[in-house]
Amino acid sequence: MDGGTQLGLDALDPGFTARPLVRVTPARLATWEDCPRRYRLTYVERPAPPRSGARAASTLGAVVHLALRSFYDLPSARRTPDAAAALLDRHWTDEGFRDAAQAAGYRLRAREWVADYAAGAGAGATPVALERWVSVSTPRVIAEGRVDRIDRRPGPDGADELVVVDYKTGRVPTADDARRSAALALYAVAARSALHTPCRRVELHHLPTGEVAAATHDEASLHGHLARIEDAAADMADAGAEAAAGGAPDVLFPARPAPRCGSCDVRRHCPEGRAVAPEVAPWASLAP
Ligand code: SF4
Repeated sequence: MDGGTQLGLDALDPGFTARPLVRVTPARLATWEDCPRRYRLTYVERPAPPRSGARAASTLGAVVHLALRSFYDLPSARRTPDAAAALLDRHWTDEGFRDAAQAAGYRLRAREWVADYAAGAGAGATPVALERWVSVSTPRVIAEGRVDRIDRRPGPDGADELVVVDYKTGRVPTADDARRSAALALYAVAARSALHTPCRRVELHHLPTGEVAAATHDEASLHGHLARIEDAAADMADAGAEAAAGGAPDVLFPARPAPRCGSCDVRRHCPEGRAVAPEVAPWASLAP
């Protein structure tokens, strides 16, 4: 695969036939794979049905991302732990927490996370892009998304390489998570294309522990991810087209009831989800 934005995946598949281009993002793909009904209620139905409000865990993740975005915008000499903590304060919001006391406790916790990160796993980082919107075009899809950070580091042979960095605030990620992430693979392909520099390594940085889960891709693994993205995008597009032509939405976009339905933001429109799990409070999925 070369560094161009147009990837000739059809060369890998002799049975390839032309289809309309489908625009996809990692968030859409993840929602489709998790529950097609939630995908329909979120991305297909217009006007979109109302969703439930903010969840504390999402707020925590969003604030940490904003703080680190601002932190790496600072000149490197000013990237101190105190500066990271102050930026966390600047971006803080109480949305989704039970009350002000609970929010204050997690705010302190998040301040420590970013300060420790600034002194530990995040120290000495050499970012070349922050919260950058990137895209990859193949003959079948335009896949795009926002990458948290792209670093430039010396590779094994001493030459510069790019590294995709993604921040996590939930459970501790594993190397397998990094390897299996379609989003990270997409970002790696897009980064090398946009910045004309090799990019094979992808990393998940876990703020609560400072642990880094990493994987190094090769051409085959990157192609594999992009081929799976193309297949999922085709399924999404087919379901949408059939629904627009009068197909049954509940058949084309089936519900997948599971315990996680308790925190689904469209559960009020989904009887199957409500039947399988009671509603979970917006702050219930926070780490204790
Ligand atoms: S409540 Fe469950 S089954 Fe229903 S849309 Fe949400 S995730 Fe899917």
